[in-house]
Amino acid sequence: MSSNKTIIVSNRLPLQISIKDNSIEVSPSVGGLATGMKSVHKDGNGLWIGWSGIPEEDINPSLLKKVKGRIEEAKCASVELTKQDIEDYYLGFSNRTLWPLFHYFMEYTEFETKEWEAYKAVNEKFAKVVLEHANDGDTVWVHDYQLLLLPELLKNKKPNLTIGFFLHIPFPSYEIFRTFPWRSEVLTGMLGADLIGFHTYDYERHFLSSIKRILRLDVNFNEISYHDRLIKVDSFPMGIDYDKFHNAALEHNNSETEKSDLQKRLDDHKDPKENKKLVLSIDRMDYTKGIPNRIKAFEYFLDNNPQYQEKVRLVMLAVPSRSNVPQYIKLKRETDELVGRVNGKFATVSWTPIWYFYRSLPFDNLIDLYTSADVALITPVRDGMNLVAKEYVATRTNGDGVLILSEMAGAAKEMNEAILINPNSFDDFSNALKKGLEMPLEEQQSRIKILQKRLRRYDVEKWAHEFLSALEATKELKEVIV
Ligand code: UDP
Repeated sequence: MSSNKTIIVSNRLPLQISIKDNSIEVSPSVGGLATGMKSVHKDGNGLWIGWSGIPEEDINPSLLKKVKGRIEEAKCASVELTKQDIEDYYLGFSNRTLWPLFHYFMEYTEFETKEWEAYKAVNEKFAKVVLEHANDGDTVWVHDYQLLLLPELLKNKKPNLTIGFFLHIPFPSYEIFRTFPWRSEVLTGMLGADLIGFHTYDYERHFLSSIKRILRLDVNFNEISYHDRLIKVDSFPMGIDYDKFHNAALEHNNSETEKSDLQKRLDDHKDPKENKKLVLSIDRMDYTKGIPNRIKAFEYFLDNNPQYQEKVRLVMLAVPSRSNVPQYIKLKRETDELVGRVNGKFATVSWTPIWYFYRSLPFDNLIDLYTSADVALITPVRDGMNLVAKEYVATRTNGDGVLILSEMAGAAKEMNEAILINPNSFDDFSNALKKGLEMPLEEQQSRIKILQKRLRRYDVEKWAHEFLSALEATKELKEVIV
């Protein structure tokens, strides 16, 4: 067996760490990435490097060694970030520059030199920790937009590492990307990788176009010639842990499983005889998710289809996110007002059109929502992938249900059997919702069946392995060049 190892690097470690008095609690976190990487991470001497989630100042120096020890036991290593790093690199450059720019929100994008400097410095902090652990011949897989400069920092110091980079958000078209003051630095940062992956072919195409037009490099199909190296670019649409969602739904639907309070409330509304239906949306409270638009479009639908008043209820779960960034505060206020307006306009003594939850819910409650929804309304204005759309489909164990999905979500590329809409068109939206509510059961089942087959086959573990196999194959490419 080779002694080479695979190192995963992401902004956050897949751990929840809490320190109370002198006791440290460490538990695994359950996000999609952590699940996909589980087998890679557990393999042999796999290692995960990232920030622990606790600012350096908040860990008592006498406890630091102990915390690091606990992190090490979980096969992880931490990069220490100060409160200032978090402000400038994470909340600042990552979330007020890269996030809006890459999601086409130019009007929200700030270009602050101080934050760019912090971004560079934190990428160097990550490089330092990775280089302390990486040996020649190891594979390093770097994740996401917080670490765009890391591949080059690693390649310059250790050319014999095999480096993969995956971007979990969209890569914008050249016309957007060209406005970015540090466009060349970010592109050359990414080019330290031997393989660069995106969710969709469109993001890949946009990236290659920027490489050609900004760096003037030769691109042959999906290979970039850069100095004496060939860099491969490809798309790998991320999947979900299909079995986890499907099996949880089977368990949930088992008549012997006791119903949660939420489920009882949901059941109260649903009544097939009276054609009463539930429509569901779940997102982080983020301006990319199209939440205000969705509420206005739902209002438009109710205005134009009065037969659905008192019949259809939109259950809208918005999970708090980045709630100290001004645009998110504004979005929350706008959402609260719109929900109030629409509910005020249509509500009757027995019906409120929108049930709005601003919180995160435990997994079992998510399953209650997914399995109870006749229609899922997933309408981001821009989204790298959107896993909620896939999770909804995985939980439809009876094969019924309708997914209405925005064309602007990466997931739409693989989910043609959903009703795909332009979320900016109220007519598109309203027609799709009517069609979804009236879709015959056989048609629902035939669409869901095809979607489920695809999602089951290409789950998150498969995604991780396909990326790593393609990364492994770049070693052969290197040998050919040598
Ligand atoms: N989710 C969660 N708790 C909640 C609501 C949602 O953990 O209360 C999860 C959901 O199951 C999904 C993820 O959050 O896996 C959202 O991923 P998605 O790709 O849809 O959007 P993102 O938030 O990454 O932009």
